[in-house]
Amino acid sequence: MVLIHSPAYVVGAHQNCWKCGSENEVVTVACTAIGVDGEAIESAEPGEAFLLSYITEMPAHLFHFVSGFAPNYRKLYSRTADEEYYANVCNCGANFGDFYLFSEPEGAWFPKDDSGVVTTRVLPVPMVDPFEVECDFGTHKIAGLEGAPFSGPVNVRESPIGQKDEEPTA
Ligand SMILES: [Zn+2]
Repeated sequence: MVLIHSPAYVVGAHQNCWKCGSENEVVTVACTAIGVDGEAIESAEPGEAFLLSYITEMPAHLFHFVSGFAPNYRKLYSRTADEEYYANVCNCGANFGDFYLFSEPEGAWFPKDDSGVVTTRVLPVPMVDPFEVECDFGTHKIAGLEGAPFSGPVNVRESPIGQKDEEPTA
């Protein structure tokens, strides 16, 4: 169980469906301060954030907030992980496993170049107290997070949905 401290965000990213090929926006939860098993709070470096993966438990208010932006986000059984966790699902019914999204080069949360993860949006989660989530997490560089105001939606992606990504210039 990890303790998510404010500020926390719902982040979105583009992901084409591996099955039907349609354009999707996948979401997950990000934060910059996290506590594990009562140990000292870990803080992310500037421009970086902790992205939560394999979320098996989250508070109802958080799920309500996330699913408000991603109606297909829901808890599903994963054969790969052999447990139920919150996953993004395409309109065709195919789901995006967190292994695919985080660990495969074509996955939305896999850094594309030096600028890190490309987000479609960064939305602050309304919260007063820290909340507990059962999940894994990792440090990710998030494009557009550094210097971005955390007071509202931030759109750091300029190209229209569906346009092919440009090759990294670095
Ligand atoms: Zn699909």
